[in-house]
Amino acid sequence: MTHFKPLFDTLSVNDEPIIIAGPCSAESEAQVVNTALALHDMGIEIYRAGIWKPRTKPGGFEGVGSKGLAWLKRVQQELNMKVATEVATPRHVEHALAEGIDLLWIGARTVTNPFAMQAIANALKGVDIPVLVKNPVMPDVNLWMGGIERLYMAGVERLGAIHRGFGSSPNSQYRNEPHWNIPIELRRQLPNLPILCDPSHIGGCRDLIEPIAQEAMALQMDGLIVETHCSPQQALSDSQQQITPQALHQILKRLVIGSRCETDITLLELRVQIDAIDQSILEALARRMELSQQIGDYKRSKQMTILQPERYAQLLEERCQEGERIGVSRKLIQTLFEAIHEESVKVQLKQLKEDKTE
Ligand code: PEP
Ligand code: MN
Repeated sequence: MTHFKPLFDTLSVNDEPIIIAGPCSAESEAQVVNTALALHDMGIEIYRAGIWKPRTKPGGFEGVGSKGLAWLKRVQQELNMKVATEVATPRHVEHALAEGIDLLWIGARTVTNPFAMQAIANALKGVDIPVLVKNPVMPDVNLWMGGIERLYMAGVERLGAIHRGFGSSPNSQYRNEPHWNIPIELRRQLPNLPILCDPSHIGGCRDLIEPIAQEAMALQMDGLIVETHCSPQQALSDSQQQITPQALHQILKRLVIGSRCETDITLLELRVQIDAIDQSILEALARRMELSQQIGDYKRSKQMTILQPERYAQLLEERCQEGERIGVSRKLIQTLFEAIHEESVKVQLKQLKEDKTE
């Protein structure tokens, strides 16, 4: 998966972020058209609206179904906007293609299920249409890439990803935890794949849209998909996180789109220092692993157990306290020393196994 075609050949976007906006759900023809008119006036070129809505529990608003496609068609024809909707089954794909929808996206719940992804990929065989793949509900970059790969293998080349956050704990400030490391890893593995951020589903509330969108721009995401509704308070789904077209306009005006330049001299000089520090961390780690092997030898010669839980608990706590004292977060120290200790135990267990087989 190294070559992707642009999402659209004809869009006026070049280095600017790609902006997709529109309501969570198409609710009525008037709501679809009025929201689109306002977005069109501010120069938005791609319009989103969900027709078939995946709801966590039955009984919620499950979308207007295929009849909403005709409303999107009006937006496409009268305003010359590209229109996008979510598909979750081969039947959705057929309907959307039959109506000439310009772009499809696949929702988080669907991407979580490889059978559903394969069925959609099969339905898209031989069709040249842009498809955006949302991240799956759990923070698993391979599952996300697997979904993208199924489409690619079916011949879909206009591909992109949408980062919409991952299932989070009830006391999180986010509706879906961003786990930025996951889209960053996706970018590392597929550097040519456009990645858009969906601050609406990450934040789950209006106030978080702007800061999340700004973070996404700082992380070189290629665009945003933002839920926008002509009267958000009355929205039938995701009302808390939808904003008016005017609010979106203000947010987009304030967004700082950072330079992607990687050859700034000051930055290069600072990176030389970082590289030197990393080198000493690596050397210290190698020395620590050597010592850990010696300790392993000693424990075996004295027939002592490899794991000594009290020592481990004490070490972890002391390192965390020392880390905090000198300004390094407890979470980082904990993750780091857990990984180091795990590796030491692994090495000592391996020595034990080798002894037995000798
Ligand atoms: C949506 O975009 O309206 C949607 C249902 O998104 P997700 O799949 O990210 O929950
Ligand atoms: Mn939504």
